[in-house]
Amino acid sequence: MKNSYSNIFTFNKKNLKKTINNLNKNNLVCLPTETVYGLGGNAYSKTTIQKIFKLKGRPTSNPLIVHYYNLNDVIDDVITNKLFKKLYKKFCPGPITFILKRKISSKIHPLACAKLNTVAIRFPKHKVTRSILKKINFPLAMPSANRSNNVSPVIPADVFDEFKKRIKIILDGGKCKIGIESTVVDLTNKPKILRPGIIDKNSIEKILKCKVTGNLKTKNKRSPGMMKKHYSPGIPVLINQKKHDGVSAFIYLGFKHKGKKHFFSLSEKSSLNEAASNLYEIYRLIKKKGYKKIQISKIQNKGSGIAINDRIKRSSKL
Ligand code: AMP
Ligand code: MG
Repeated sequence: MKNSYSNIFTFNKKNLKKTINNLNKNNLVCLPTETVYGLGGNAYSKTTIQKIFKLKGRPTSNPLIVHYYNLNDVIDDVITNKLFKKLYKKFCPGPITFILKRKISSKIHPLACAKLNTVAIRFPKHKVTRSILKKINFPLAMPSANRSNNVSPVIPADVFDEFKKRIKIILDGGKCKIGIESTVVDLTNKPKILRPGIIDKNSIEKILKCKVTGNLKTKNKRSPGMMKKHYSPGIPVLINQKKHDGVSAFIYLGFKHKGKKHFFSLSEKSSLNEAASNLYEIYRLIKKKGYKKIQISKIQNKGSGIAINDRIKRSSKL
């Protein structure tokens, strides 16, 4: 199908080839994953990594997630362990990122890992990105396809809003099903969640059969996703709101205010997974409608609600 954006391409054989050619030339492309759209490039190439940081306006102290097709592809780059293998078996490909020790001989460019001795790796599930990962001879460094601090994109038009024509190819994979970023779990020591996601702490503990720390309150800034201010829609966000102020956009769960002006439901059936998948789209919609402020009602802090609260809390920091 044709669209009005000259750099958004339908997923077909011809465009798949074009995307791979660009990646082989160390260019950047935007790809769909099941979590959010990513800005991807060759993780082994210095110039590619530099382009990613530059285009995103991201501080080089914030490491990138490196994406692989499967387990066999990572063994030369990271030191795997039992905990990783258990989680891989259960959840991969899927919305979970593992922090592992980097092998000395690893070809991942040190800039991708912000010169740390650890690497963040993920195996995305989306068929478009998997078909690309299968055909290239390097992993993809791929942060979310947004300018630093902004909300992650969940549809191709969101990616266009972030980078306009500064990116040659945005491959259309529809709306991202999960809609918020992957769970990040540090497995270099005692398992620790660095960023909550749809795969929650309980399900990880169940597989590992051990306690996993949340670590969300510490001041550890090794991870960009842990920086206080992040995921900002560009207007003030107020959380735990009870009363509508009459003018702001009001985000809530359920259908109580259905049809009322200024009210936006994250999920009419109050599903926390659906709420997570709609959050960023609703943030962008509200901004486009010209609202000056967002109020959000209290969201249950369990399951995917933990990940939603993490994102909205950080988007509320000024
Ligand atoms: P984004 O690229 O926007 O999806 O965010 C990248 C996420 O990867 C951050 O939130 C970090 O938690 C995580 N990350 C990447 N590399 C590392 C690393 N070496 N150590 C710890 N966290 C990392
Ligand atoms: Mg991001």
